[in-house]
Amino acid sequence: MFNNLSEKLDKAFHILKGHGKITEVNVADTLKEVRRALLDADVNFKIAKDFTTRVKEKALGQDVLTTLQPGQLLIKIVKDELVELMGGDVAGVNLSGNPSIILMSGLQGSGKTTFSGKLANFLKTKKNKKVLLVACDIYRPAAINQLHVVGDQVGVEVYSEPENKNAVSIAENAIKHAKANGFNVVIVDTAGRLAVDEEMMIEIANVHKAIQPNETLFVVDSMTGQDAVNTAKAFNDRLNFDGVVLTKLDGDNRGGAAISIKSVVNKPIKFIGTGEKMDAIDVFYPDRMADRILG
Ligand code: GDP
Repeated sequence: MFNNLSEKLDKAFHILKGHGKITEVNVADTLKEVRRALLDADVNFKIAKDFTTRVKEKALGQDVLTTLQPGQLLIKIVKDELVELMGGDVAGVNLSGNPSIILMSGLQGSGKTTFSGKLANFLKTKKNKKVLLVACDIYRPAAINQLHVVGDQVGVEVYSEPENKNAVSIAENAIKHAKANGFNVVIVDTAGRLAVDEEMMIEIANVHKAIQPNETLFVVDSMTGQDAVNTAKAFNDRLNFDGVVLTKLDGDNRGGAAISIKSVVNKPIKFIGTGEKMDAIDVFYPDRMADRILG
């Protein structure tokens, strides 16, 4: 995960690690390398530039050059800024509803259905919740079947109405079913398209309005870099979602989406997907991710 970025940052910090005493030129060179590493990771130009500007200001403010271990201090400033950029404190998922309703949004292929199963499994085994999965994809019968397969894998009931072509009514019926049968959490998996399109946006916005979820999650493939960030913006403008799920981090060498998404949509990354199996889910901790990136 993010190997390329880690290697490049490590190289950037080499300049600092080699010196007992460092100069303003060393700092400037390092920050230039840090910026280049972020750009190579597919971080947006402005975000990368603002990042290094903030690090520089902090370094000046803390008189880095006069301290005992200036290199270490600068690396710490970079880490703190990275944590801040990725979201600061850990964000939880809102389970205050009765039942709590979680709506999944995102493009087709982003990993929504897989993640719905992972989250159901996570809430069932880690939080002791009775979870209902709901298949709201009215276009692709295969998508409904896929959710049933996933539900079977994790031992969670799946609600579907294959003949019903109205996503809002399926979601509403599912919630009634959940209330009548003592479910604590309802996870609604919706239809995605290959690209952002108006029909999909209207449909998911209608479902969102009708069921008033406690939590709306936007699922996105981290390997798509800046595209992931742009798609997040389009969905957020429409749904004002609560959090992001970054999938396929196991295959992401660059890390641009993880680093940029929070500052563009101002919503936290809540979970990450790290593989195809049902247990390949992690809560996203910005500080742990920064540690991982900085090695
Ligand atoms: P959906 O169309 O958004 O519901 O996407 P799917 O859940 O069908 O996922 C699309 C593909 O991505 C499937 O082949 C999944 O197995 C795969 N996938 C989903 N999440 C992950 C992940 O975290 N890591 C990896 N390596 N593959 C994933």
